[in-house]
Order: sequence, then C-alpha cells, then structure tokens
Amino acid sequence: MTTIGEFELIERWFARAPRRAALGVGDDCALIAPAPGQQLAVSTDLLVEGRHFLATVSPDRLGHKALAVNLSDLAACGAAPLAYTLALALPQVDERFLDGFARGLHALADRHRIDLVGGDTTRGPLAIAITVFGEVPAGAALRRSGARPGHTVWVSGTLGDARLALEGFRGNVDLDGGVLQRVRRAMEIPEPRVGLGLALRGIASSAVDVSDGFVGDLGHVLKASSVGATVDVDALPRSGDLGSRPVGEQRLCTLAGGDDYELVFTASPDAALRVREAAAQAGVAVTAVGRIDSERGLRLIDGAGRAVDEAYAAFDHFRS
Ligand code: ADP
Ligand code: MG
Repeated sequence: MTTIGEFELIERWFARAPRRAALGVGDDCALIAPAPGQQLAVSTDLLVEGRHFLATVSPDRLGHKALAVNLSDLAACGAAPLAYTLALALPQVDERFLDGFARGLHALADRHRIDLVGGDTTRGPLAIAITVFGEVPAGAALRRSGARPGHTVWVSGTLGDARLALEGFRGNVDLDGGVLQRVRRAMEIPEPRVGLGLALRGIASSAVDVSDGFVGDLGHVLKASSVGATVDVDALPRSGDLGSRPVGEQRLCTLAGGDDYELVFTASPDAALRVREAAAQAGVAVTAVGRIDSERGLRLIDGAGRAVDEAYAAFDHFRS
C-alpha cells in the first residue's frame, strides 16, 4: 500500500500524449474525430477477476487481454481501432501490478496505434472495463445479420486452446508443462484479428468474434440472419496440443470453449478465393467448416457426415 492518489496514479501509469485523438486524458471529455464518411464503431467489455480471468494471470498479460477482447469486437465489425477508455477498480495501489498492467496494455495499444483517451479510477474489487472506438466506412460494417443459405462458414486461427488451459487450471485435465504453457498463452494473450476483420470488409456476409464459444457465437449469427447451418466438427481448426487430446475433450473445447477471440464469418462460395486472399494479407489462417442452410438450427456432423448428437452448449455466464 502506498499513498499514491488517484490523479498521480492516472498521471504515472495511464496519461500519455495522444497521437491521433484531438484531446486525451486530463480534461472532462476526450475528443475523437472519425474521418469524413466513417461511422464510429463502439464496444465495451467488463472483466472481473474469477469470472473473466484467474488471479494467476500476470499483470502484463491481463493488461493485454483487457484491451484485446475489446479490439476483437472491432475486428468482428471490420472497424479500424481509433481510441479507447479504461475504467479501473483496484483493491489497492500495487505498483508492481500497475507497472505490468500498463506495460501490457500500452504495448498492444501501440501496435494498433490507438490512444487511451480517458477513463475512471476507483478503489474496489479488481475490475477492468474498456470501451473501444473504431471507424468503419458508413454502411460497410460487418454484421451478424448477413448470412444467407448456401454461404460458407469460416473460422480464423484455431479454437479451443483457451478452454483446454482453463480446464488444466481447474484440475479437470492433466496437461504436461510444455502443453500448459502453450495453451495458457491462448487464454492469457489472445491476438485480436483486427487485420482480418478489415480485409474481410466487402467480402464476408456476416461475422462475429468467438468469446463465449463457437456454437453459441455462431448461434447469434444464425438468429440475426434467420438461417441455420451444418458444421463439420472434425473440420474445426485446432492446435496440435488440443488435437492430441481425447475426442470428447476436443469437441467440448472447440465447440463450447470460449475465450478464443477468433472470427467466425460467412461468405458466398463465389468469394472463397477472395476470403483466402484477405486471410493471406492479414497473415491469419482461415478454415471452411460448414454451410448456411435455410432450415433453422445448427446441425453438427462429423467428417463422415454422421450427426454428432452431444449437446455442446456455449458457455453462459448466468448458467455456469
Ligand atoms: P471526472 O471527475 O471529470 O470524471 P476524473 O477525475 O475521474 O474526471 O479523471 C480525470 C481525468 O483522468 C479524466 O480525463 C479521465 O478521463 C482520466 N482518467 C481517469 N481514470 C483513468 C484511467 N484509468 N485511464 C485513463 N484515463 C483516466
Ligand atoms: Mg471520474
């Protein structure tokens, strides 16, 4: 515990000269100006210890993740990040924690050239709320409602490692040290697919980022688009670490894992080549995993075309 006050804390760890915003930390409001013809894309995520992150996470990884999950929402909309705000509740002024947290946060922000333009700081149980602001040409945002029958369902990167790590920490699965360290990175330092989201503008018909699990998040697209889908669970991309686990575990982690921060998106089959070019440009792998149907609901099949009947519900914060 120290005697550092609120304003000194903001000054020391969070106030930095804005590079792009017209007015940053220190005034009653920040001022940001999207370019002419652009819409402002806005998203907020709240992270609470024990629910969204474990006390074992290092402060710099926590700083990274708090911003990454928000940038992932901009990515899903095809928006270019501009700026963000940070609301922080801290149980005490822990300099070591704040040094690490600010380092991880600012490092990711620097990579995307975005400014921390304001926020609020209070004493309380550790909680972090970030709001990101992005810009997207008017009418060009990727939305959940554009999937049409016949469109292909695509997934970026790999699914399930974050959930495998969580089950490792919970003691439900036994992972050897090297595996745990690798899958733990997926859980603690996810990479928001901002470049892919931008590259998919005008190509993808719908998109969502996977925060609660593939089945649940694809379900949001299906509902918003009034369609259904058939997905090959054996085609869902997964790491070698997850791929060497028992099949049931692989299915749970890829289908209902959560915390993946990959993009699930749809595109017309005619656009397959353009999807692959966009992914190559963004440096991210993409995999076709299924097809949109006019019949509502999600049908899971295996690689041989047999129905997979296990009920893999998405992780729901209020049910678990
Ligand atoms: P107000 O009382 O006018 O809401 P505050 O006294 O809470 O303002 O904050 C002073 C300034 O510091 C404001 O510009 C606010 O946006 C900024 N600020 C507060 N907390 C943070 C934080 N955690 N990170 C970045 N900026 C912050
Ligand atoms: Mg305030």
